[in-house]
Amino acid sequence: MIEKVLIANRGEIALRIHRACHEMGIKTVAVHSTADENAMHVRLADESVCIGPPPSAKSYLNIPAIISAAEITGADAIHPGYGFLSESAKFAEIIDKHGIIFIGPTAEHIKLMGDKISAKEAVKEAGIPVVPGSDGEVSEINDAKKVASKIGYPVIVKAASGGGGRGMKIVHNENELELAVSSAQREAEAAFGDGTVYLEKFLTTPRHIEIQILADTHGNVVHLGERDCSLQRRHQKVLEESPSPALNPKQRDEIGEVCRKAIEKLGYRGAGTIEFLYENGEFYFIEMNTRLQVEHPVTEMITGIDLVKEQIRVADGLPLKYKQKDIKFSGHAIECRINAEDPFTFMPSPGQVKDYHTPGGLDVRVDSGLYARYHIPPHYDSMIAKLIVHGKTRNECLMRLRRSLEEYVIDGIKTTIPLHQKLIHEDDFINGDYNIHWLEKYLDSLVAD
Ligand code: ADP
Repeated sequence: MIEKVLIANRGEIALRIHRACHEMGIKTVAVHSTADENAMHVRLADESVCIGPPPSAKSYLNIPAIISAAEITGADAIHPGYGFLSESAKFAEIIDKHGIIFIGPTAEHIKLMGDKISAKEAVKEAGIPVVPGSDGEVSEINDAKKVASKIGYPVIVKAASGGGGRGMKIVHNENELELAVSSAQREAEAAFGDGTVYLEKFLTTPRHIEIQILADTHGNVVHLGERDCSLQRRHQKVLEESPSPALNPKQRDEIGEVCRKAIEKLGYRGAGTIEFLYENGEFYFIEMNTRLQVEHPVTEMITGIDLVKEQIRVADGLPLKYKQKDIKFSGHAIECRINAEDPFTFMPSPGQVKDYHTPGGLDVRVDSGLYARYHIPPHYDSMIAKLIVHGKTRNECLMRLRRSLEEYVIDGIKTTIPLHQKLIHEDDFINGDYNIHWLEKYLDSLVAD
């Protein structure tokens, strides 16, 4: 039985994991950099260990320091959260070698899905539809030209090891291809230490729809429906909702079942997300994330299932508590990511939070480590809070989101709350009529005004 979990992360997700552990009677160990001494996840954990100076490379990515912290405190499991080491096969392997439980999939599955080319091949084999593109790497420009003219322009050059929306180049015609391939290779090499790139058909008006799955080590797999994450800026999600305004229950069941069967075939364990672009009624796989996602609360709100508790149960070797027929989807949920940034220029705005007041009431959830007089350090991701609301209908959810955003006070720094406040009054958003390019166009139109 897992009795003590070390949380190898910071911020809201460290707190989220701590909460699940304590509700299960499990003790927690926080690790932190010197910049996070006064962070909420450190204050609430049963024990804490300082693992290094502020730069992530020396603290939250410092594997020897994290393993030492687990050994010193006698933690029997490690939860990686998202970002940082959550998709490092090496981290999972080392944890395993130390006789500690990694709360996540096997290192082999992380490796398989971490390379987008091998991921695409594996899921295709397991029955999941993929975006048309090169079968594997393109290194020679002549090969790239052949593939591109076969699938038709526009195409997108993507990094096999890419993440966080980086290392992608859209190409409209053959003249642009050579430069795009070589600069994508260079960028990918610099950012990920791997210059492998591949080509895909660039879909012009898709939605981003992803399927949440959960699998145990006894062969049970369930899908927990979809999340629509089409509102993006620079390929980064800004707001997510479930159900998708574009799908009906039958379509959800169909794609959910395709994913469930594929995951069963792949022998995957733990929580995972299969990401698709959705256009003209068709789904096209783009990648699989082998970890908990930022937007997981949206799924929790409509299913009533605590994904972190399920991850811990699976890691402990227990069977899932649910069969597919037990999964019921109820109402609608929306999550707003709130960043410490100027709401319209997106310039980072770290610093001290002066006043802080969170919205409340029925079906309102705030996941955040913020408190009054907390200093947001400048070293990390600018996301400081997630506001998630639920309603019986999408309309009720929207009304609840409006009033929750009105109540939320974060003084002393700039946040993206005003952007969300503006966004939810837009007709296209209210009507659910948006694709992955909508938000960027909208932001451009604000600048032009
Ligand atoms: P990352 O791992 O960097 O997040 P993804 O492959 O998940 O990269 O893609 C991120 C986003 O980039 C998608 O949500 C979508 O907005 C855009 N994108 C990726 N592939 C394509 C494609 N073939 N056509 C159009 N947009 C794409």
